[in-house]
Amino acid sequence: MQLLKGLPAAKKITAEVKEKTSKMSRPPKLMIVRIGADEDALSYENGAKKRMEKAGIACEVRAFDADVETEEFYEAYAALNRDPETDGILLFRPLPKRFSMEKIEALTDPEKDVDCMCTVNMGRLFLGQEGFKPCTAQAVIEILKYYEIPLTGKRAVVIGRSAVVGKPLAMLLLSENATVTVCHTRTKDLVERAKEAEILITAAGQAEMVDGSFVSEGTVVIDVGINVRPDGTLTGDCAFDSVSEKAAALTPVPGGVGSVTTSVLARQVLEAALKKGE
Ligand code: NDP
Repeated sequence: MQLLKGLPAAKKITAEVKEKTSKMSRPPKLMIVRIGADEDALSYENGAKKRMEKAGIACEVRAFDADVETEEFYEAYAALNRDPETDGILLFRPLPKRFSMEKIEALTDPEKDVDCMCTVNMGRLFLGQEGFKPCTAQAVIEILKYYEIPLTGKRAVVIGRSAVVGKPLAMLLLSENATVTVCHTRTKDLVERAKEAEILITAAGQAEMVDGSFVSEGTVVIDVGINVRPDGTLTGDCAFDSVSEKAAALTPVPGGVGSVTTSVLARQVLEAALKKGE
């Protein structure tokens, strides 16, 4: 079985971005916006900062206290969206419930929305137009492309239909001419549907839910899930050993899709800056 590590794909994308940023008059700038100090967010933030540095992208963090007033936050967020020196903004979600995502969306400049959070960019994706893609969903495509796994005409099955991963990923796979089935908690005969896949992508957020019984011989399996075991270690949606016995290829967790996400983010910040004519 081929192990589809994310790092080589991430390094390739980062090098391509770096090559372009090194020729620019100023580095493109990403602003990470965070409310509170959630451990997962901090860990992603650290990874993103390192990746931006390697890609020649300036990265700043604007962190708000967990109890920040909504109006104070909206004002600051709007100002960042107007700031000509900020090319891309990554807002960590979910936000505390007192914040209105509708209001935040209205304050978001779609041309700085480098993680494809707002309806304009999601609409562009669904219509097959140019625009920013949700970084995790795009990272799946990047891994498949890096390892030269053909998508045209292939039966792809996605387990998960969230707005952040499953749905946009289905659209990206369609754009690559795969034939796509999207599964969720109400799907009947999930194992049968999964077994139809030539490319199986798991984004359910259920630790090791997918074992070898879901996988036909020779299937390429991409595990998007990041789940924390009771002992604090990370695991994917796939039971690694069991799936490896059947799959032709499988991404590890950690070290798979997650490692490519921030390099896609870097590329989209570069694109945002280039679009502005920097
Ligand atoms: P959500 O919880 O928002 O969505 C999970 C989806 O999986 C839902 O559509 C749900 O169905 C479906 N699902 C859950 N359990 C089952 C089941 N037993 N059978 C079939 N379908 C099921 O999660 P996200 O999409 O945000 O994230 C998914 C996973 O990806 C998580 O582990 C997350 O940590 C990880 N992730 C990884 C990233 C990375 O960089 N690698 C980035 C973002 C997320 P229904 O709609 O019916 O409820």
